Formats: sequence, structure tokens, C-alpha cells
Amino acid sequence: MARYNSSVCRLCRREGTKLFLKGDRCFTANCSVSKRGTAPGQHGVARRRKQSEYGIQLREKQKCRRAYGVLESQFRKYYEMASNMRGVTGENLLILLERRLDNVVYRMGIAKSRPMARQIVGHGHILVDGKKVDIPSYLVKPGQVISIKDTSRDNAYFKWLRENGVAGETHNWLEFDVDSLTGKVIKLPEREDIDLTIEEHLIVEYYSR
Ligand code: SF4
Repeated sequence: MARYNSSVCRLCRREGTKLFLKGDRCFTANCSVSKRGTAPGQHGVARRRKQSEYGIQLREKQKCRRAYGVLESQFRKYYEMASNMRGVTGENLLILLERRLDNVVYRMGIAKSRPMARQIVGHGHILVDGKKVDIPSYLVKPGQVISIKDTSRDNAYFKWLRENGVAGETHNWLEFDVDSLTGKVIKLPEREDIDLTIEEHLIVEYYSR
């Protein structure tokens, strides 16, 4: 599957906002958005000009897609799923993205960023209801138990996690016990549980054109 292999900080600079793709560094003065804040490239500053309505919608879609680390074709599938669900399409879209297993691992505080969570899932360290799931896009359901595989528990990172506590805040629709390295999906998130500064109606407008 195609992957983005260039500097992830360029993605934040392109969107003009922090997407928190690098873990600890995102909270330091070394964050590229804090230091420079301009679009990448030699003419980054000059490129910031008044955007068309389409441009604003496109940027919001790209910001959301890049924050969750999803490719365009997959993002469009989430949008189609969301528009076929009951309720508000934009909110449905964000809830679907939040239900991805890599996002849940990040939101529980097991990983410091979504890219790191994606790697943890992809390397087969995560069990869902006791069964290994190594697909980052797997959609979790309420009541499912997320844990670390027994043979992975002695790996240096999970030892560090047990000694130092969770790597980030555990969100209120999830629970995670760092001593047993086990968590649970209590419920599905609601819009107010999702702290991303995304105007999802712009994404709906983008795909409705
Ligand atoms: Fe984005 Fe984090 Fe890089 Fe800052 S340090 S630009 S928030 S990935």
C-alpha cells in the first residue's frame, strides 16, 4: 500500500496547523509549525494568499485526511460510508475515523502519535478481544477489549510505558489500564469528544460539489 515517506512536519506546515504526527517533539519549541509556520518550500510565505471556496474546502479535507494518516481513496470510502449512515454526515465521518484501531491505540495513550500507533498495530502487538489484529483501519465497536500481545509485553517500549504511565491523555470514551496494558472501548465518541479543530461541514461540501 502507498505510504507517505517524506517529512511529516511538511504536512503540518502545508496545512498551517499542528497535526501532532511526531509525538513528544510536537509539544516542544522544535516543532516546525511553532518555529516557522509557513508552507514548505522556497516560496512558502508567498504562497499564502486568499483562498477560493474550493481551496478552503480542499484544505480542510486534506488536513483531516493527513491528521488520521488516511490515503485519498480510503478517505473517500469513509465519506461514502458516512453519507449512507443516519445522522449528520460530517460527524459520522469523524466518528468513523476515530474508530480506526490505530487511532484508538493513540487515543488510549498507548502511542505518542497516530503514525506510531499505526506501526504498533502493523507490527502485530495489539489484540482485540484476545485476537491479534494488525490492520490499522480495523473499526472498533463498543465493548471491545484492546490489549498488548503477551509476547510483546517485554519489549522495551511497553516496559517504558508501564514504568512511565500512558504516553498521552486517554479519551473519555475509552479506558486503559497501563499496569495490565489492557483497555476497553466504553462507547463510540460523540462530536464533542473529538478535539480536532476540523470544520467537517467543509469536507462534506467538498465531496458534494
Ligand atoms: Fe507537526 Fe509535530 Fe512536526 Fe510540529 S513537530 S510540525 S506538530 S509533526
